[in-house]
Amino acid sequence: MLKDDLKYLGLTTVAAVYEEKIKEAEKKNLSYLKFLTSLIEEEVKTKVERSIQRRIKQAKFGEIKTIDTFDFNWPKAIPIKKIQSLLDLKFIQRKENMVMIGPPGLGKTHLAKAIGYQATLSRIPTLYTKAIDLVNELYASMSDNTFMKKMKTYTRPRLVIIDELGYLPLDKKGADFLFQIIDERYECGSIILTSNLAFRDWGKIFGDNTTANAAIERLAHHGELILLKGESYRLKDKKKRKIIRDLK
Ligand code: ADP
Ligand code: MG
Repeated sequence: MLKDDLKYLGLTTVAAVYEEKIKEAEKKNLSYLKFLTSLIEEEVKTKVERSIQRRIKQAKFGEIKTIDTFDFNWPKAIPIKKIQSLLDLKFIQRKENMVMIGPPGLGKTHLAKAIGYQATLSRIPTLYTKAIDLVNELYASMSDNTFMKKMKTYTRPRLVIIDELGYLPLDKKGADFLFQIIDERYECGSIILTSNLAFRDWGKIFGDNTTANAAIERLAHHGELILLKGESYRLKDKKKRKIIRDLK
């Protein structure tokens, strides 16, 4: 009867552990309050863990990267304090952005995902996407009339990571889609954006300087700009560096 009632209430962990907890309470002579607290604690713990796992899944990170596997001695020019201060996630509460610019292989994706992962551990709704995938998804949604719904996937999460802006050129419509997301999220939700191109070259991504400037203004108004300089981590190994140099 009790087990059924607990399951009916959705207290599945309590249902699974209460017998054991009663034995423990009797052995340790726990007060009613202490017993009840430890029982409910178990339920809360599994609910929180489940919700974190759900957030991680919804974020669509692909390969997960964490900050403890990031070597801050590479690259040479990296604003460590700025990055560490972003890890407290207060910028998300303030609805601020983080733009990371630098050549390939310097750990932009790694850092963006690591901060995103940290956010999911705090149960902050997060989404990771490459810029080109965001644009292609919105394109596809036009043909089956799900555009508004798709837009919400990019405007609703409290943190959206838009990775690799600039590797692939966008056409006019694609640039408009991206601008629309940046505009809708402005002062409403955070964006972490990474690019291999400096702001002055964003006209090439967006197809015109007016849209590029409007996007930069919205991203930079409230937020941090992180510039990374140095050699690719992918070529950290000296031998690999030599092979690539010879191929060039
Ligand atoms: P970017 O996005 O700037 O091109 P990535 O984040 O994809 O670079 O980094 C390339 C690879 O090198 C990834 O596997 C990443 O985990 C690793 N990497 C880059 N920088 C570091 C670092 N400082 N410490 C540990 N791994 C790194
Ligand atoms: Mg990258």
